[in-house]
Amino acid sequence: MASHVQNDISAGFLHEFKSFATDAIHVGSEPEQWNSMAVVPPISLSTTFKQHGPGKHAGFEYSRSGNPTRNCLERAVAALDGAKYCLAVASGLAATLTITHLLKAGDGIVCMNDVYGGTNRYFRKIAAEVGLDVSFADCTELDLLNAALKPNTKMVWIETPTNPTMKVVDIQACADVVHEHNKDTIVVVDNTFMSAYFQRPLALGADICMYSATKYMNGHSDVVMGLISLNHDDLYERLKFLQNALGAVPSPFDCYMCNRGLKTLHLRMKQHFKNALAAAQFLEADPRVDKVIFPGLPSHPQHELTKRQCTGCPGMITFYIKGKLEHASTFLSNLKLFALAESLGGYESLAEHPAIMTHASVCENERTKLGISDTLIRLSVGLEDEEDIIADLDQALSAAHAKK
Ligand SMILES: *Cc1c(COP(=O)(O)O)cnc(C)c1O
Repeated sequence: MASHVQNDISAGFLHEFKSFATDAIHVGSEPEQWNSMAVVPPISLSTTFKQHGPGKHAGFEYSRSGNPTRNCLERAVAALDGAKYCLAVASGLAATLTITHLLKAGDGIVCMNDVYGGTNRYFRKIAAEVGLDVSFADCTELDLLNAALKPNTKMVWIETPTNPTMKVVDIQACADVVHEHNKDTIVVVDNTFMSAYFQRPLALGADICMYSATKYMNGHSDVVMGLISLNHDDLYERLKFLQNALGAVPSPFDCYMCNRGLKTLHLRMKQHFKNALAAAQFLEADPRVDKVIFPGLPSHPQHELTKRQCTGCPGMITFYIKGKLEHASTFLSNLKLFALAESLGGYESLAEHPAIMTHASVCENERTKLGISDTLIRLSVGLEDEEDIIADLDQALSAAHAKK
């Protein structure tokens, strides 16, 4: 193939969102907002702001209620989500907590049955304990979602793709089912895996889009942060109140860091997709691997839905190594470029064993049902050179399957 012919891996996917890169770089970072005309938003550390007269402030009073650096980040993220508003909070779980406080005792939450372990733990062990009626449903089956909706259901929590089994949920179809049942039921999508670059839940009928920005949105594995985007004016006012009243706010330094990470989100995500697709194709062709689950591969059962709903796929790959637990363990212990670590979405490649590490809190019965077996391995493919990523996977597979 001639070198000038571009092999566009996002062909067939939803078209890239208009002006995404320009917005990532400029919205919220306008030099004109500062007397200094600083091109890079300053880190505003002051906890308090001088008032002209009692109650007459220049936009900021106290840093928990509002902070100039946080403001820059929130405006940038709102633009990237195609949203009117964004609120930054201290972590992904702080976003879950803040959003759930929209509900009151007796209200019902229906949560996708396969979600981030901490989300499952928060709903089961904390929200349910203070009187919320929590139930779980497989939202990939609209009938099951529909059957789970009750008169008291005030919120439906979706995550797509799921972790670690990479099930893709049809956001528009779920939002339609929920809003048909009750137009005021709040549909929340955890968009952590996709990032704003690959998926816009609000354009697909969701009421709230949330992130653990700790992952792709910041992308440098050096900030813990949560983000909440939305369009409804009244929900925004209530969440803005909760952001201040609950107080789970991020530091100005972390806001600065996350905003800096966003400037290269489009470049990073494209490269994550490219590297992950190459790694997934390599693994799928390898006889030492039983099965690869990557929504960007035609073999993924919801590949067509993924193409319809997303502009591409992130660096998350799940695969089953041939053999038993010892093969998975030997593979993971022999990786050199991939670090054996929890978390995901940073520029560096990570690998982990969900059954022993991230999903150990899910009971064995449930793990078996979800397919989280001893041979399941999760990769977060980073931004290193493609041939080095594949060479590392190859040598670790050799180590795992070496003749003893
Ligand atoms: C990490 C993660 C969270 C929790 O976010 P924190 O920033 O760790 O609090 C929520 N959802 C998903 C999908 C995640 O990966």
